[in-house]
Amino acid sequence: MDCIFCKIISGQIPAKILKETDDSISFLDAFPLAKGHVLVIPKNHHQKIQDMSEKENSDLFSLVHTMISKVDSITGSTLLAVHNGKDAGQEVPHVHVHLVPRSKYDSAGAIHSMFDNSLKLSDSEIDELYTKLKI
Ligand code: 5GP
Ligand code: ZN
Repeated sequence: MDCIFCKIISGQIPAKILKETDDSISFLDAFPLAKGHVLVIPKNHHQKIQDMSEKENSDLFSLVHTMISKVDSITGSTLLAVHNGKDAGQEVPHVHVHLVPRSKYDSAGAIHSMFDNSLKLSDSEIDELYTKLKI
């Protein structure tokens, strides 16, 4: 498998591993957007969150929960992000959760600043989406 994160898990590529659990590991991002930029990933190769088993999913987000208080102590505010699919900005096709310390002095903004406009949806479009997504 030609996957950078699988190579980190197998030890072929070095990484600053912070914590390992049965199904997940956490390590420092090699190209950090802020001091303390951390990644949490499942040990098994899956591209998307919904491809993981419930056990892997629970283990992953349990490790996110463990790491967030550590990372959040750096600035007191942390961005959690998952790019779930290539068109969502995912460059490494192996599930990973970003934990990025934020500050009011950094260059990033709110989620709405990633897009030029928010959509104006009609009532029928909203109803259609509601029907499609409701479980
Ligand atoms: P994506 O853009 O897929 O959401 O995020 C991939 C992340 O992996 C990026 O933040 C990038 O800096 C990080 N990354 C890429 N290659 C390596 C590597 O070899 N080692 C580590 N530790 N992080 C990496
Ligand atoms: Zn992988």
